[in-house]
Amino acid sequence: MRSTFAARLRPRHMNDEKLRDYLAFYQDLGFTSVYRRTATPGTEDAGAPAEEPIAPLADAASTGTLIVLPSLAPEGDTLERIREHIGDCKRCRLHEARHSIVFGSGNPEARLVFVGEGPGADEDAQGLPFVGRAGQLLTQMIEGTAKREGIPILRKDVYICNVVKCRPPENRTPEPDEMEICGQFLFRQLSAIRPKAVCALGATAARALLGRKEGVTRMRGNWYKWRDIPLMVTYHPSYLLRPYNQNAKREAWEDLKKALHFVYD
Ligand code: URA
Repeated sequence: MRSTFAARLRPRHMNDEKLRDYLAFYQDLGFTSVYRRTATPGTEDAGAPAEEPIAPLADAASTGTLIVLPSLAPEGDTLERIREHIGDCKRCRLHEARHSIVFGSGNPEARLVFVGEGPGADEDAQGLPFVGRAGQLLTQMIEGTAKREGIPILRKDVYICNVVKCRPPENRTPEPDEMEICGQFLFRQLSAIRPKAVCALGATAARALLGRKEGVTRMRGNWYKWRDIPLMVTYHPSYLLRPYNQNAKREAWEDLKKALHFVYD
């Protein structure tokens, strides 16, 4: 069903989905409202001219109508609805070579969510995140650290997903446009779960969630925020699988310990 909001705001050349992506982009930049130009007398399109859809950066003093953006996560959003909305996605080029859409797995009411980069070959084959070698290490890290720290959780108690839901060819890093398109679903997943904390695994997840391009070495072990949810950055498990990264492995264990205590103490 088309919302009245979308109908009022949508310029002629945009469909609802384009408008939603457009608003999502600005909302993720931190804008919570947009201005729509008032009708220019004599123009047939009341509101924005077609070439100039909406002016989120417009000066408040300019003639315009303040429109508060609706929450991007629809009221009562659930993981099932988000998965349904993704459908047989062809929104970006990553659909071309994928076998599965790897949505996420774990507890839909998890207090801790791990976010990786994107599915690899094993994940693409099984349709589940972090089931290959990196995934086995992640499971060991979660369950081993929890056990040692006396925190009674297993992998199934947290939620695990990725920035992009389709495997990038040759496991390359997702392109910015792919991250942006798929990022809306990640954001909805996080909003639907509303965990107590998020753990970003590696630079891609940190960039997608925080918009920061610093290296993980600088960011790891520190608390940031995704919207109002505390977010810890740590190394991606694939990086830790390399034999010369033993020091990073120790650091990742420390980061995880900190995150687990924060969430479960
Ligand atoms: N690497 C990721 O970032 N995600 C997975 O699901 C598997 C490997």
